[in-house]
Amino acid sequence: DMSDTQVAFSDLELPSSVLKSITELGYETPSPIQAACIPLLLNGQDVLGMAQTGTGKTAAFALPLLSRIDLKNNKPQVLVLAPTRELAVQVAEAFQAYARHIPGFHVLPIYGGQSYSLQLKQLRRGPHVVVGTPGRVMDHLDRGTLKLDELKAMVLDEADEMLRMGFIDDVETIMAKTPAERQTALFSATMPEQIRRITKRYMREPQEVKIASKTATMENIEQKCWIVSGTNKLDALVRILETEDFGGIIIFARTKTATTELAEKLEARGYAAAALNGDMNQQLRERTVQRLKNSQLDILVATDVAARGLDVERVGLVVNYDIPYDTEAYVHRIGRTGRAGRDGKAIMFVAPRERRLLKQIERATRQPIKQMDLPSRDLVQNRRLESFREQISTIFKNEDMSVYRELVDQLAVDTELETLDLASALLFMAQKEKPLILPPEPEPRPRRERDDRDGDNGGKRERINYADLDVYRLDVGRNDGVQVKNIVGAIANEADINSRHIGDIRLHDEYSTVQLPKGMPDDMLKHLKDVQICRKKTNITLMEGEVARPPSRKPRGEYKGKGRARGGNDRGAPRKPRRD
Ligand code: AMP
Repeated sequence: DMSDTQVAFSDLELPSSVLKSITELGYETPSPIQAACIPLLLNGQDVLGMAQTGTGKTAAFALPLLSRIDLKNNKPQVLVLAPTRELAVQVAEAFQAYARHIPGFHVLPIYGGQSYSLQLKQLRRGPHVVVGTPGRVMDHLDRGTLKLDELKAMVLDEADEMLRMGFIDDVETIMAKTPAERQTALFSATMPEQIRRITKRYMREPQEVKIASKTATMENIEQKCWIVSGTNKLDALVRILETEDFGGIIIFARTKTATTELAEKLEARGYAAAALNGDMNQQLRERTVQRLKNSQLDILVATDVAARGLDVERVGLVVNYDIPYDTEAYVHRIGRTGRAGRDGKAIMFVAPRERRLLKQIERATRQPIKQMDLPSRDLVQNRRLESFREQISTIFKNEDMSVYRELVDQLAVDTELETLDLASALLFMAQKEKPLILPPEPEPRPRRERDDRDGDNGGKRERINYADLDVYRLDVGRNDGVQVKNIVGAIANEADINSRHIGDIRLHDEYSTVQLPKGMPDDMLKHLKDVQICRKKTNITLMEGEVARPPSRKPRGEYKGKGRARGGNDRGAPRKPRRD
């Protein structure tokens, strides 16, 4: 089991206001990347973090950098560059949450697609931290509406993703415009050459932080994962719990708050569930584990720390409701089942953005984790009916129903209803939290299903299947100053389509074409029509009858497709300065 050299948040020299926020957010202990990065960043050093979404990297830089802010200075002191609007907003929200007890603190996300006048107004209010996508940050620097001369620290978040999206020149240009003595933190899941180059050119003795992963094999544990889509995690969990027989279950969540909330929700649905977390004293924790042992409880919802060393034979299933920070935590978590030589099962919920972490876990454990589908609606419905039938039989076996029969007769007379109608009304009332008739399955969103990230290195990627793509036309072209990256950026942001599922892009003078996954929902197409690129509405339309083909090796300059991002690699080549 895990070594006990665990650092506490209180051991790190974070300001008390920040400690207060993280306690309220329910964080129990720093994640490995946080334990490693926070002291370095507090110490003013540059950090090179090999980490992806799900490891807690946002807090790893946000928490220490908050202590560098001079609130009286209304100029940006920390700049975070992020590849997408989604991430920029998330990071800004994280800063806001960690700074909730720092009055007067102000953070601003800026990204393409938002109106300039609004952003200008917000920039004039003097944010201490700016989180932006590279293109929009460049625009504001060019216009003189963003000044970085008082910048103390800069963070490049998901640097490899910025590279992949064609932002790396912008990133360099921006870095070159910041004070030379600023502190830099760079986070990236992989370290392709172009990113190494940036670290050499712009960082001072960067301290590398890599979370070493131990390997382990757990042959008696069947491991599966479900990629979160369509259904929310709670409903997915309930479906799994309802359709399988497990004995004891341990569910892992990230925060103390999440453990209590989830345990309460499961209790409300009729499960014998309780939370197990670091807010409980040792005695209470032991008593709770004892209740799981003697079957008074079936489910414990635990944090990593609270479940350390837990050894209960009847635990047949571990659910990673929130993905663990790293392989070590994963191995420890799933080791709570399959005790004493028994067989165990482990199911992990993985958000599409967390797929890299999944890949890393698979690599380190040298075991593929099979993707599973949720139990179908029909299966859940049948199980519910079955258990309802059983309940009814048990009642008739064990209870004296004569008084109730009389009452039913009376009710039928009073309501002037047939017994069958009366029974249906009572059934309707009796189903409560567990409806016997489920709503139809939500339509799966095609784009999510094919979001297959590989995290090995910046160069290797899955082959795109052109048969799965349609060709669309955009009313913006070279004459508007559009570049491939603007189109990738807008579509990745606005339609939330991962850049690697965008096919070939061709720029013409008056228009452009882009290949996108088949089956785009109408509402998304409608939304994309109004999205502006280089200040012009895309007015995107499907080019009926046009077949998506891989980029041909046409003369350079003519074709400027995404081929550069796929198999080929001309990313390192200097590009013309941007113009928009
Ligand atoms: P990130 O890897 O930065 O995207 O963070 C993933 C999630 O983990 C976010 O929802 C954070 O709120 C959460 N988180 C980060 N650090 C901790 C921690 N030390 N304890 C519990 N949850 C955390």
